[in-house]
Amino acid sequence: MTKKELEEIKEKRVKVFLKERAFLSIVLSVVEVYKKETMGILLGFGGGDEYIIEYAIPYQTAEKGFTWVEPRERMSERMLKIVESLPIDLIGDYHSHTELGDSKAKAHPSGVDIDSMEEGKIYLIVAINDKEKEEDWKMNTDGSISGTVTDFHIQIAGFYMVSDYKYRRAEIICPSATGIAQYTKKNE
Ligand SMILES: [Zn+2]
Repeated sequence: MTKKELEEIKEKRVKVFLKERAFLSIVLSVVEVYKKETMGILLGFGGGDEYIIEYAIPYQTAEKGFTWVEPRERMSERMLKIVESLPIDLIGDYHSHTELGDSKAKAHPSGVDIDSMEEGKIYLIVAINDKEKEEDWKMNTDGSISGTVTDFHIQIAGFYMVSDYKYRRAEIICPSATGIAQYTKKNE
């Protein structure tokens, strides 16, 4: 792939602005359960080419087993009703992928993940692994962000559906994690 082609793909990507408090909630909830998977909802604004994630709320009663099979439809009706009454939108959800034996967790959607994705929503997948070495938080060419926190390496990738069973990667912009100044103004 040429540099120009890569630029074009990046240009077309949906941009997801991850606010600091949402970023912290995600990192803390994922680190808290480490080897188990966790999930939560994403509240914010947006649609089309840009989304802003203001809050990430961990879903406390989620099944915390080694494999994530809890269908999203089972998410608490009560929780969704409350969100409906707030001046903020439910724009998607997030869940973690964890190490299983020797295989490292990947920030990539599984078949089950893809099945449950709807168009018009943003899905974050957070891969958490043991840290091998210290890494500053950075944006990756695939649109994800990654870095280390204490003993862990964390990668956060965003996805959205463009048609049935066809998903694309979003570009995650999180100045508080990556310290990228040029996006700060745009985000305010
Ligand atoms: Zn998954």
